[in-house]
Amino acid sequence: MTASTSDVREIQHWVDGKEHAGSSGNTAPVTNPATGEVTGRVSLADATDARVAIASAKAAFPAWRDLSLTKRTQIIFRFRELLNERKPELAKLITAEHGKVLDDALGEISRGQEVVEFACGMPHLLKGAMTENASTNVDLHSIRQPLGPVAIISPFNFPAMVPMWFFPIALAAGNTVILKPSEKDPSASIWLAELWAEAGLPPGVFTVLQGGKAAVDELLTHPDIKAVSFVGSTPIAQYVYSTATAHGKRVQALGGAKNHMLVLPDADLDITADAAVNAGFGSAGERCMAVSVVVAVGAVADRLVPKIAERAAAIRTGDGTRSCDMGPLVTAQHRDKVAGYIASGEKAGASVVLDGRDVRPDGAAGGFWLGPTLLDHVTPDMEVYVDEIFGPVLSVVRVGSYDEAMALINANPYGNGTCVFTNDGGAARRFQNEVEAGMVGVNVPIPVPMAYYSFGGWKNSLFGDTHAHGAEGVHFYTRGKVVTSRWPRSARRGLDLGFPSND
Ligand code: NAD
Repeated sequence: MTASTSDVREIQHWVDGKEHAGSSGNTAPVTNPATGEVTGRVSLADATDARVAIASAKAAFPAWRDLSLTKRTQIIFRFRELLNERKPELAKLITAEHGKVLDDALGEISRGQEVVEFACGMPHLLKGAMTENASTNVDLHSIRQPLGPVAIISPFNFPAMVPMWFFPIALAAGNTVILKPSEKDPSASIWLAELWAEAGLPPGVFTVLQGGKAAVDELLTHPDIKAVSFVGSTPIAQYVYSTATAHGKRVQALGGAKNHMLVLPDADLDITADAAVNAGFGSAGERCMAVSVVVAVGAVADRLVPKIAERAAAIRTGDGTRSCDMGPLVTAQHRDKVAGYIASGEKAGASVVLDGRDVRPDGAAGGFWLGPTLLDHVTPDMEVYVDEIFGPVLSVVRVGSYDEAMALINANPYGNGTCVFTNDGGAARRFQNEVEAGMVGVNVPIPVPMAYYSFGGWKNSLFGDTHAHGAEGVHFYTRGKVVTSRWPRSARRGLDLGFPSND
């Protein structure tokens, strides 16, 4: 990142192992959400800038693919060591542009680091199978090979973790990577690129292309990009999936969410209320795995809602660099949109038990503040239930039975994460079996799988067949080949035009 004459930093692309200004001349402001001040200007790539980045990633691919697995994974391991030592620096950058509290920023880096650690085991993960004498003197073996330059397009809410769901595996498998981060908090990507260079990654193997739609469109359509991993809102995920697959690319496009927490009458309500508050308001609700709807069965809501309200009212909202629990929203526009949902819920007849618009934050007057909000008596026809709000607004929907709750959850077009709170093992088993979502928690509110499992939702929360990281990630970034070989003995067998059979 280059300091300019004012305090406003210029945040550029990263091409060929160094910062790169690009030629578009377009930029966008980057703000500190806790103060409202513009702290940076990020370059926005046009198609020409994107082509320069793609050409660099293409040129770097053959040598990186052919570097021995031992040498590749040594670089990944060095990156892991540097990241582990220096993550407080990265956390500060994330807080300064995203707004989340420092502990939360550190938490996201740790979850990304788990994937880096997983990728250090790539030699084992890439092992194929071998069959000797499948036919007389004929052996078969399978190999998995990298694809080429691949693109990662990431959202604002996890500027470090979401890219790290993908790039450690893509790189360790031998691909070159172009990361297109969110233009709202772009500095983390450049910090990560610098770390890769320090770890010894050759120039061109990891590229950062800053920008918006123009940059994305070139990545989705350019013939030299072989695969696209996207994370963001559902309409853009659908667009990315349809455009990139139409251009022959392998695509995994993770979309938005509306995560339900089912609370059965036998649940421990203190544990449940803690979980609902942590999962509803952590990171100001700007998490794709945030709980946004509590589905309370029977009369349980009468006892649960006051417990959630009491805890949520105690949340300290403020500048993430201070000892607060919850930071601001990412932009003023997003804060106003989320506040609009509170008004919409109120107008539609929901009870506003706690109103985040009344928040008194520990932070500057210009910050994009909105406190925790609890809406009770929400019904499925209300806008607050239908839309993904992506802010600190928790809705409570009251239902009469388990079956009614399941019908509600399964009718929702999203299917990212969901959880059940109960002491009844049979009910929990039934829930995990019947619920239509990709990630399920049993008395665990945010069931984000570890790096060696795969992350991803169902329905409108994921387009494509492959989830992120774990075995599915390795599969996504490689393609299979099966080799059939015969090393002839000296005696000639003669011509045989018959179809090969297993004799
Ligand atoms: P977004 O869809 O606005 O942006 C995501 C990416 O797409 C960014 O890099 C952005 O620059 C780019 N983009 C935006 N508009 C575009 C357009 N018209 N054409 C092409 N590219 C475009 O999402 P966001 O606001 O940055 O992130 C929040 C969303 O991401 C929420 O919906 C959240 O649920 C989702 N999300 C999902 C997951 C998951 O795992 N399913 C994880 C994190 C975030």
